[in-house]
Amino acid sequence: MPRYDYDLFVIGGGSGGVRAARLSAGLGRRVAIAEEYRFGGTCVIRGCVPKKLFVYASQYSEHFEDAAGYGWTVPKADFDWPTLIANKDLEIARLEGVYRQGVERAGGETFSSRAVLADAHTVVLESENRAVTAERILIATGARPNPHAALPGHEHCIFSNEAFHLPELPRAIVIAGGGYIAVEFANIFHGLGVETTLVYRGKEILGRFDMDLRRMLHATMERKGIRILVQTIFDRVERRKDGRLEAHIPDSGVLVADQIMLALGRIPNTEGLGLEAAGVKTGLKGEILVDRLSRTSADNIWAIGDVTDRIQLTPVAIHEAMCFVETVFKGNPVEPDHDCVATAVFSQPEIGTVGLSEDEAAKRFSHLEVYRAEFRPMRNILAGRDERMLVKLVVDAGTRLVLGAHVLGPDAGEMAQLLGIALKAGLTKDDFDRTMAIHPTAAEEIVTMYNPSYRVRDGKRLD
Ligand code: NDP
Repeated sequence: MPRYDYDLFVIGGGSGGVRAARLSAGLGRRVAIAEEYRFGGTCVIRGCVPKKLFVYASQYSEHFEDAAGYGWTVPKADFDWPTLIANKDLEIARLEGVYRQGVERAGGETFSSRAVLADAHTVVLESENRAVTAERILIATGARPNPHAALPGHEHCIFSNEAFHLPELPRAIVIAGGGYIAVEFANIFHGLGVETTLVYRGKEILGRFDMDLRRMLHATMERKGIRILVQTIFDRVERRKDGRLEAHIPDSGVLVADQIMLALGRIPNTEGLGLEAAGVKTGLKGEILVDRLSRTSADNIWAIGDVTDRIQLTPVAIHEAMCFVETVFKGNPVEPDHDCVATAVFSQPEIGTVGLSEDEAAKRFSHLEVYRAEFRPMRNILAGRDERMLVKLVVDAGTRLVLGAHVLGPDAGEMAQLLGIALKAGLTKDDFDRTMAIHPTAAEEIVTMYNPSYRVRDGKRLD
């Protein structure tokens, strides 16, 4: 008789938890996984996937405009929000099933229940009112939007979660924040015809990205008609008698909107999980503290994904899950590799980026070469769309190593995925130079910038 009910119990059915459960079950381990909301987690249910579907939906307004230059007469287009929501919900339900069945087909057991630790080996399944035991436990409970409870009137605001289920499309929206979610949703709502205002406390949107991209995206968004207020916050939200909302900006007035969305970062889901009882330590933001192999302060408990607040990205959580399985069930300790992670912001135009920004590289390397091409992509010419694209490589002049690759423009996310391989492989600018271009593409600029646009020596730009 085994000492525990399961070899592994996974708490949290998002991308990381499901991957770990499915692979471990596939190795013949006795595995169970509990999810309190819907299998698929943030990415599938109320994050990356529905967001990308919304991005596609919102791009049609520009596609219809651009079509005229190519000879098409497009009758006045109408958009129906409930249709988009219903179709999106169908696809999300399909994916939810795929996630759940993946674990079950591999031999794992799934529970639709909140799971809480009673001690280091005991998990209480709240919906079933019973406890089970496991030799090892993996916590993959993810994160949730920062509620910003200090803001008076925050209860009138929505977060990204609600944005996927609004009963009607607002006429006007105010979005607070300057990160991924705020910028992506500002573009989505604007594309769907909503009067959109972005309010960001910093100097320039999208901190941590290359400044060139940040400035150019900002300018492009404004030209499209998105209002962006920087170095500004609102300090109170009030609901008016007519149901609309007011965001009060100190000394400069009031923004009126039908919805106000807060996108001010995400906080780890660790409250009420029984971590103390199990001996699992957390950090200042409530994140679970883990070592390089994702093991927590309790010997038999591991944690992966957003709940550890390392890099809050789905593919990173999946990678951490695979390292966990390799380490724990295959006897092959593998540390997750968090270096040089490519990422995209699905703004309009998109950002795709990997490696160091110019500013970061200048702090670490004394002599940089920067290759930069700014141009109007071919697809915009007949369309009459005055929107430019940016391709930029940051190179260490000493070793010729490409340290950073940054793209703003159509399909930048797709390009960044491939650039990620080149940078991860440690390719040099000479490798880029001897790669044949594909013509005519926008991506050919990546391999045809033969001369540096400028150099940076000891942090100073030399033109
Ligand atoms: P981000 O960390 O990207 O941005 C948070 C924003 O909120 C920043 O602009 C930050 O400002 C601002 N902020 C934080 N606290 C306050 C405050 N008290 N008052 C005013 N402003 C504040 O978080 P998001 O919520 O946008 O996204 C969460 C994570 O989800 C991201 O980090 C990302 O990893 C992931 N994600 C990835 C996506 C993708 O891959 N395309 C899409 C969506 C999310 P400041 O810059 O000054 O700190």
